[in-house]
Amino acid sequence: MNVTIWNEFRHERESEEVKAVYPDGIHAALAKHLESVDGLVVRTATLDEPENGLPQDLVDKTDVMLWWGHKAHGDVADETVDRVQAAVQRGMGLIVLHSGHFSKPFKRLLGTTCGLVWREDDMHERLWVVDPTHPIAAGIDRYIEVPHSEMYGEFFDVPTPDELVFVSWFAGGEVFRSGMVWKRGYGKVFYFRPGHETYPIYRQPEVLRVITNAIGYLGEATRPTVTGIGNAPNAKVSAEAARSSE
Ligand code: ZN
Repeated sequence: MNVTIWNEFRHERESEEVKAVYPDGIHAALAKHLESVDGLVVRTATLDEPENGLPQDLVDKTDVMLWWGHKAHGDVADETVDRVQAAVQRGMGLIVLHSGHFSKPFKRLLGTTCGLVWREDDMHERLWVVDPTHPIAAGIDRYIEVPHSEMYGEFFDVPTPDELVFVSWFAGGEVFRSGMVWKRGYGKVFYFRPGHETYPIYRQPEVLRVITNAIGYLGEATRPTVTGIGNAPNAKVSAEAARSSE
């Protein structure tokens, strides 16, 4: 399975505080773990590379894309967003992490503001598994404890998800839907909340387990079991097939 980890990769280069946690970037930390998982071919891409690191040929061969950004969402080219959106609709999985809730591809695919409330107060977070039979929660106990976290709270302005896997509780009293899946065309989008840039959350085993599970789950969506007119991932092919059958 081909995995592409996209990272904005600005803050890790500009801030000593962030660099201290992720010296080679958040994408490199995630890649280090995912490269150890059997069956995954892992590539990374960053905002300041040509075509935002996501030329069409790379997008085309990606089964699951991870997306992390937080301070330069507006610098992502609309053409890049078009490519990511179309790929999801054709069957690519998209895992949007933490502050990626305000990224252009996520907002485009969900169609809402994706706004939420937040507070940086170093509180601890407990992500409760609310669907223990969901493949994304495989191997996770009743909850994941994140000792130091940035708070995200409701209302999170997203469409009602197709699948809700985690709900977070914060020591400040807030709750948040922190693991959700939406189907879009032939693909799926998974939003997973943990991962602020000043905490080593992407080295926490349970968090990495969930991301790995999600890659497996969303990657399966690229292989529809039903084929034929109306089920072809490429709408243009469908239309031609429909015409030729008239
Ligand atoms: Zn954050």
